Amino acid sequence: MSPEKYIKNYIGGALVPAKSGAYLDNITPATGEVYSYLPDSDGEDAEAAIAAAAKAAAEWSHAEPRTRFRLLMRIADIIEQNLEVFARAEATDSGKPVTMARTVDIPRSQSNFRFFATAALQFSSESHHMPGTAINYTLRQPVGVVGCISPWNLPLYLFTWKIAPALAMGNTVVAKPSELTPMTAFLLSKACMEAGLPAGVLNIVHGLGPKAGQAIVAHPVVKAISFTGGTETGRHIAATAAPMFKKLSLELGGKNPNIIFADCDFDEMMVQTLRSSFSNSGQICLCGSRILVERPIYERFRDELVKRTQFLKVGPPMAEGSDLGALVSEAHRDKVESYLQLAEVEGGKILCGGSRVELPGEHAGGYYLRPAVIEGLAAECRANQEEIFGPVVSIAPFDTEAEALQLANGTAYGLSATVWTQDISRAQRMAEALQAGIVWINCWMLRDLRTPFGGVKNSGMGREGGQEALRFFTEPKNICIKYG
Ligand code: NAD
Repeated sequence: MSPEKYIKNYIGGALVPAKSGAYLDNITPATGEVYSYLPDSDGEDAEAAIAAAAKAAAEWSHAEPRTRFRLLMRIADIIEQNLEVFARAEATDSGKPVTMARTVDIPRSQSNFRFFATAALQFSSESHHMPGTAINYTLRQPVGVVGCISPWNLPLYLFTWKIAPALAMGNTVVAKPSELTPMTAFLLSKACMEAGLPAGVLNIVHGLGPKAGQAIVAHPVVKAISFTGGTETGRHIAATAAPMFKKLSLELGGKNPNIIFADCDFDEMMVQTLRSSFSNSGQICLCGSRILVERPIYERFRDELVKRTQFLKVGPPMAEGSDLGALVSEAHRDKVESYLQLAEVEGGKILCGGSRVELPGEHAGGYYLRPAVIEGLAAECRANQEEIFGPVVSIAPFDTEAEALQLANGTAYGLSATVWTQDISRAQRMAEALQAGIVWINCWMLRDLRTPFGGVKNSGMGREGGQEALRFFTEPKNICIKYG
């Protein structure tokens, strides 16, 4: 299995170009050069994919759970056997260090298939007895044809996080990966073919969001949409889907607080805070971009964070020693830089980073940026309120628990929050009061696939993960049998 210059759609079990024959450039952020070309799909391609999914639905929805289990496990095995091919493709497409793709993105994609293949086998119907009268039980039936749309930051990881539970529960899928990172989705098409997944069960349409993505969302045959991406896109998708009463799962942006109390385990907190600030160049929806520090340790923390941040190595994705690779695109680097400028206008002081990294040779055209730490921003200013989604954190001191909570909850977002303290009572109080779907105490991004995943407020609606995903991808049907 290997990447190809011309990526194809995967429709009805076959690899096909867009019907129009049009392609888009797929740029690698490592160099700014074209890595491959992807189909510029439109409504006609989406239509063909939806028709293929609809045709495959009857058989797949009635397939023995064991059959679905075996096929999904086989896909996971094929990804595992080709780990290095997938990891290099992911790093080339997204600009992330290949070490991260190899240890996080691709292993997690395998786990997604294995976890949901197994979980679906154990997912059982509920029953309720009305003594002497009736027995009720609840069937969980597949929704039908579902749409899965994912972003570029964790490409195969998030793509399979949706596809795996959808398939495991007997749905057929039309999926669209981000146009910025299509290659591992293309490799997944090949893995599905090799595994013997029946034609039409999974269909992958490449292309632009407002064109190919919108066509999937707007199509009446698609009964549910699982979307991960920006809040504005989520709003648009919700508006399109609402009149058709589609099921929606929306995983959107974040502006997550990282709250550090003076009694924390300082060394462990520093290690994890560096991770939560700059993993994947801050391009993870869960990154802690607003760091709030109790005043007695504020200066020590600031100096240590700046020192460690300056030590991080920004380099080519394929270099084994790179801590940060390239940002995903030129437009995204421009966006991050514009927020850095805005932060200064708004009164912030950039303590380190924020400048471009000029690498030699073929990497001279890549989109590299040094990680930045900003101090002195007012809580309500835009740079502290809007999602930057890059290697940028702002730090601020606080004096009381109440103030920390107010600052933490003081944005339109509510995805995740982290709390560092050794006082378990305080940790619990904070966890209960934080407006977030996920709260980490003394850790960050410690993931258990059984737990609900998602946000509140502008960070989305619905939850993924474990039973939540299995419920989302099924319709409950209550059956009442009277015997009295
Ligand atoms: P995006 O919203 O621009 O695009 C996401 C996907 O939606 C892409 O595949 C895109 O082509 C498609 N799309 C765009 N417009 C569409 C439309 N009108 N109809 C249908 N599909 C459309 O987001 P992005 O820039 O790719 O990703 C970054 C964002 O994703 C950030 O805001 C980040 O916080 C968020 N994110 C959230 C989570 C989470 O779990 N909450 C995880 C990762 C990323």
